[in-house]
Amino acid sequence: MTDDAQVERARGDAPDGVLVIGAGPTGLLLAAELSLAGIPVTLADKATERSGQSRALSLQPRSVEILHSRGLLQPLLDDAVDQVPAGHFAGLPVTLDYSSWDTRFPYQLGIPQARIEQHLENHLAARGIAVRRGLELTGLTQDAAGVEASFADGTTMRTGWLIGCDGGRSAVRKLTAIDFPGRDGRMSAVVADVVLDDQRAESSGRWQLPSLVPRDGAVLTLIPLGHGVHRVLFTGPEQQLLVREDPIGFDEVSEALTNWYGAKVVLREIRWASRFTDAVRQADRYRAGRVFLAGDAAHIHSPTGGQGMNLGLQDAFNLGWKLAAYLNGEAPEELLDSYHDERHPVAAAVLANTRAQGVLMIPDDDIACLRETFLDLLRIPEANHRLAGVISGLGIAYAPGDHPLIGRRMPDLELGDGTTVAGLLACGRPLLLELEGFAAARVLVRPDGYVAWATDDPEGQPDTDSSNASAVWSMASSSRSRTASSAAR
Ligand SMILES: Cc1cc2nc3c(=O)[nH]c(=O)nc-3n(C[C@H](O)[C@H](O)[C@H](O)COP(=O)(O)OP(=O)(O)OC[C@H]3O[C@@H](n4cnc5c(N)ncnc54)[C@H](O)[C@@H]3O)c2cc1C
Repeated sequence: MTDDAQVERARGDAPDGVLVIGAGPTGLLLAAELSLAGIPVTLADKATERSGQSRALSLQPRSVEILHSRGLLQPLLDDAVDQVPAGHFAGLPVTLDYSSWDTRFPYQLGIPQARIEQHLENHLAARGIAVRRGLELTGLTQDAAGVEASFADGTTMRTGWLIGCDGGRSAVRKLTAIDFPGRDGRMSAVVADVVLDDQRAESSGRWQLPSLVPRDGAVLTLIPLGHGVHRVLFTGPEQQLLVREDPIGFDEVSEALTNWYGAKVVLREIRWASRFTDAVRQADRYRAGRVFLAGDAAHIHSPTGGQGMNLGLQDAFNLGWKLAAYLNGEAPEELLDSYHDERHPVAAAVLANTRAQGVLMIPDDDIACLRETFLDLLRIPEANHRLAGVISGLGIAYAPGDHPLIGRRMPDLELGDGTTVAGLLACGRPLLLELEGFAAARVLVRPDGYVAWATDDPEGQPDTDSSNASAVWSMASSSRSRTASSAAR
């Protein structure tokens, strides 16, 4: 370990401070959550400035809900490109009906990732937290009392806890020797933001869900981003012969567009382009001592269905309040392990569904029959509802309990006088709701909006052997939390 005199302390004294590595969507939301709970947080990123590039283009309904519950949604709504009232599975032409779920936001919010990051960064800046840029993590050691991080420019920081939100090639994951089992990509594709001459009769300028049904061994989809810019994603036989580092030339994109649309669409300019694959891997543990992983650092998969950034945001929302509660002395350390226990299966399910979608997109006659079978299933409301819950994130449920609401997300009820559940969650504290006319008489809601405990007995209390519920119960009993009594609407 470096001599203490040379070690810069991450903001706040160890062991209470948290160093977040990576200021993508996951790291930004985690830093916001920790800071909301009064935890000293430092956010470091190797990039000297934002790239302005957006891989993700939309927020799924559950992510919209969680941002709404912290009062972070309005600037995103103001800056969104579109609202798409459905989701898709493998681009099949029967869409997923998000309105079959009880939510205020039954749509994907079309907003490029770069704008989400910018708004979250603005929010942090307003709380006095600036992203420390140009800091590339290259070394990490930990002992019983803290973590020491070293950076490429020679900076070292001592902190209590460290969270790796540093993307799919995570240095944090490698430096903590956390395994990342899975497989490499089997197909390669191109994503590019382009300027076009677009003469297609059906081109409405509105966002449409991508059609990913293969034609002549290729798949292409085009999404308008506004201001004359389109997102194009494509793959075909030629892309399978190229490696990720191969440059993407004007001719490669132009040819893909012409093969798909003929002369109706002419490429004028490429703003940025990148190759991606359907590699699928997941960290086998999300915690190593005082170090956690979240977002792409913990899981990678193909972008089909638009789920990766959403997973990362929801990892952040799950870990943030737990680590803060522990550091504030409000919860036992076991609560920290529930982060892996809850989030690992959620990401494993996303990895599985993206693999299934990948199979449905293979250009093959037998797979075409499988697509037809799947389409028939998607027309059945119950099947459609279930898959809509998977892709939107609205169907996520954690460990069940002895009441059907336990583990599920709490609906955003109106509680009278303009008060809503989401509004009461804005301060990031748990809520104890005493309700009439609802599915339970008393509901204990975690800061991330999931039900920790519920009962039909107005005098009931959670079991003390349920560590998650009893930790939230004792947090809710503190003066900083709210108890609301109301007739639910
Ligand atoms: C083509 C494509 C389309 C996609 N579309 C969607 C979509 O529609 N919806 C969706 O939900 N998801 C989508 N995704 C996935 C989404 O982009 C990612 O899941 C998301 O960016 C993950 O966010 P993150 O914050 O975990 O990681 P990242 O966004 O990768 O951020 C990691 C940050 O860590 C920094 N960093 C890396 N290494 C270090 C280091 N050693 N030291 C310090 N800093 C470091 C990086 O500079 C970066 O800022 C798509 C992905 C692709 C490839």
